[in-house]
Amino acid sequence: MRYSGFRVIKEALTGHKGWGPAWRDPEPQPAYDYVIIGGGGHGLATAYYLAKHYGKARIAVLEKGWIGGGNVGRNTTIIRSNYLLDGNEPFYEMSLQMWERLEQELNYNAMVSQRGILNLIHSDAQRDAFVRRGNAMILNGAGAEMLSVAQIRKRYPFLNFDDARFPIKGGLAQHRGGTVRHDAVAWGYARAADSYGVDIIQNCEVTGFRIENGTCKGVETSRGFIAARKVASCVAGSSSRLMSKAGMRLPIESTVLQAFVTEGLKPVLPGVITFGAGHFYASQSDKGGLVFGGDPDKYNSYAQRGNLPVIEDVIESGMALIPALGRARLLRIWGGIMDMSMDGSPIIDRTHIDGLYFNGGWCYGGFKATPASGLCYAHLLATDTPHDTAKAYRFDRFRRGYMIDEKGMGAQPNLH
Ligand SMILES: Cc1cc2nc3c(=O)[nH]c(=O)nc-3n(C[C@H](O)[C@H](O)[C@H](O)COP(=O)(O)OP(=O)(O)OC[C@H]3O[C@@H](n4cnc5c(N)ncnc54)[C@H](O)[C@@H]3O)c2cc1C
Repeated sequence: MRYSGFRVIKEALTGHKGWGPAWRDPEPQPAYDYVIIGGGGHGLATAYYLAKHYGKARIAVLEKGWIGGGNVGRNTTIIRSNYLLDGNEPFYEMSLQMWERLEQELNYNAMVSQRGILNLIHSDAQRDAFVRRGNAMILNGAGAEMLSVAQIRKRYPFLNFDDARFPIKGGLAQHRGGTVRHDAVAWGYARAADSYGVDIIQNCEVTGFRIENGTCKGVETSRGFIAARKVASCVAGSSSRLMSKAGMRLPIESTVLQAFVTEGLKPVLPGVITFGAGHFYASQSDKGGLVFGGDPDKYNSYAQRGNLPVIEDVIESGMALIPALGRARLLRIWGGIMDMSMDGSPIIDRTHIDGLYFNGGWCYGGFKATPASGLCYAHLLATDTPHDTAKAYRFDRFRRGYMIDEKGMGAQPNLH
């Protein structure tokens, strides 16, 4: 069924009896050409691009819970391509361009809103770093503008500009950045992939791999063995756990990142802002809630919930930047498991086991990468060669010493 304004009006006038399920609920088949593990944004996008661009194949997405129940439905919805380094910037810019036409392509309203993102500057050294980053963005066609305090004051009057400790001295803006309704991305890709015949199988946990003579023959699941020509791991925060079942130890650690939403308020934040003197970022949802986050919890965990010290830490940063935040009531807090890589950048690559592929290490920036990650992973799966735009994202960069470390933090996953 094609969605349109006309359809919405017609259904409204006829009692909404014409809507069908957006995707099927099939039983798993004994064998597929491709099995993608993980029904998050990346897994579903991979299935969609694989089915769309690489010919007829039997494809399944296996999800242990429900699609959208992982990080794709837990993030703070920010999209942007304001990166500095060569390996990253072209990839995230490609992703941003894909977001710009995604709703038309999927025929699904994902509420892509290019309301702009602004990184605030609080010191002269930070200004130098952001000018450099802005230049890298401009060279890659991503667009960037340095804003003065007066320009920022006009757009964001509620910020604490003259805080003696963290005065705001300007900002780096990417006007094409913004937000996208996160779970709608999972649903949009699921519906589009299903329309190409992809089987989306929920409540199906992969519990192991069947590997014979160095080749992956399929996966053991909570619903029995499923054979596959190619198996693609795409499970974000569960990556190290899952791949250990294939005997692999990844350059990834898992930590929890929390997100926060206040009660609905009148419009106060027209775009996305990030605090440069602490780790805090915020936007305002279309319902009016302030959506914000900060540092991940400081210990490794596979629990999908966070702990109190980081809540205090994030709120402190928020209050330093937006003192009025203290008057708002928090509605909800939740956590997601982040696949933090050693250099803060992702991996899309084959493994040393034939027929077994890996996508992960997205840290807390993988939502914005969803379209490009899906496209590049599908390319790798179908052709066995890395996509040109993602060729830096290979395992061997850790062996060769070619890190893509945006923050220059070194091998300290929880700090990326
Ligand atoms: C609080 C928070 C805020 C964030 N904010 C942003 C942001 O503003 N912008 C941004 O770009 N990124 C953000 N991120 C990061 C982003 O959400 C993730 O990097 C991205 O969603 C990860 O890819 P995914 O969607 O495929 O992951 P997920 O949605 O987590 O998908 C992985 C799926 O694999 C399934 N799975 C796991 N193990 C198995 C198994 N054994 N068998 C079958 N299925 C399995 C899980 O159930 C899950 O559904 C944030 C993350 C969090 C938690």
